[in-house]
Amino acid sequence: MKVLVASALILVGSCATLRHSEKIEQLKDSISYDNKKVVEKYLSTITTGELKLYVKEVSSEKYNGRMTGEEGHNDVCNYIRSYYDSLGIKPPKTHPDYYQIVPKSVLPEGLNDSQNVIAYIEGSEFPDEYIYITAHSDHEGVVDGKIYPGADDNGSGTAAVFEMAEAFKKAVLDGNGPKRSIVFLHVTGEEVGLHGSRYYTNNPIFPLEDTVSTLNIDMIGRVDNRHQDNEDYIYVIGADRISTELHFIIQEANYNFVNLNLDYEFNATNDPNRYYYRSDHYNFATKGIPVVFFFNGEHEDYTKPTDTADKINYPLLAKRTKLIFATAWYLANSPERLKPEII
Ligand SMILES: [Zn+2]
Repeated sequence: MKVLVASALILVGSCATLRHSEKIEQLKDSISYDNKKVVEKYLSTITTGELKLYVKEVSSEKYNGRMTGEEGHNDVCNYIRSYYDSLGIKPPKTHPDYYQIVPKSVLPEGLNDSQNVIAYIEGSEFPDEYIYITAHSDHEGVVDGKIYPGADDNGSGTAAVFEMAEAFKKAVLDGNGPKRSIVFLHVTGEEVGLHGSRYYTNNPIFPLEDTVSTLNIDMIGRVDNRHQDNEDYIYVIGADRISTELHFIIQEANYNFVNLNLDYEFNATNDPNRYYYRSDHYNFATKGIPVVFFFNGEHEDYTKPTDTADKINYPLLAKRTKLIFATAWYLANSPERLKPEII
């Protein structure tokens, strides 16, 4: 009996392999940008000058390292919401001050209440389908009298989300707004255990079943030791774990617009660093939502007081931001909603 079952499985396996390669080809062929010029117009609004301005602001000493629940972090959250307000990008109707309070009862002991900051652009055709662009806003605070500025972690991600929000807003004003809704989510409590994103996914403002995908950014402004000779790279982590299509969309975005080296080293399921489990996308993944984590890897200033704004590679930060924007653009405008399935 066991032998029979085994041979039947082998037969199924070989048939499935053939169909699998065909399916992959079909899927790849189905992904294309039908108006590259329009995408390029908004990619060109993502500039090193503005990214630098935002990284410098977020990592400035006045925010005291942005420790969850402390005044410096509350101040930076206020700065973040003012940014959206100034662009005319609205808060969710249910949270008119852009804040979702994350109560101290769900945070590690000793921390105060904190908040996620949320803004969104409503889709023109499918307003009830949501693409999230996320970046954590908190950092390590002050340790042993030293401010941890966290310019890369995660001033770089915060600045990238700002630039994408501005680009999408410009598209709206030109009549090229996204067909699906885009949510800009700045979560708190990442450094103390991914708490802001966990709270959000347990208390979502927009229904999780209507969430198409979550693109998470955590450290994209620096170069790690593995890439000193070729800086044009980004680690892409987790994109193929819930949706094969998402994995190929990122490749298509990259091929069409930026040509970075997409490094899948840390996407291996046996990666000992376990980065897939270590930033906010993971809480969305546990709910079955296709996610991707964009990351530059660790460097000598990672979680040190020396992670400063002057060390960010701004042209590279701009390129990486453009890759993520082009990916979000596709997800927001594709005729069919992204499929959460593994081929
Ligand atoms: Zn981080």
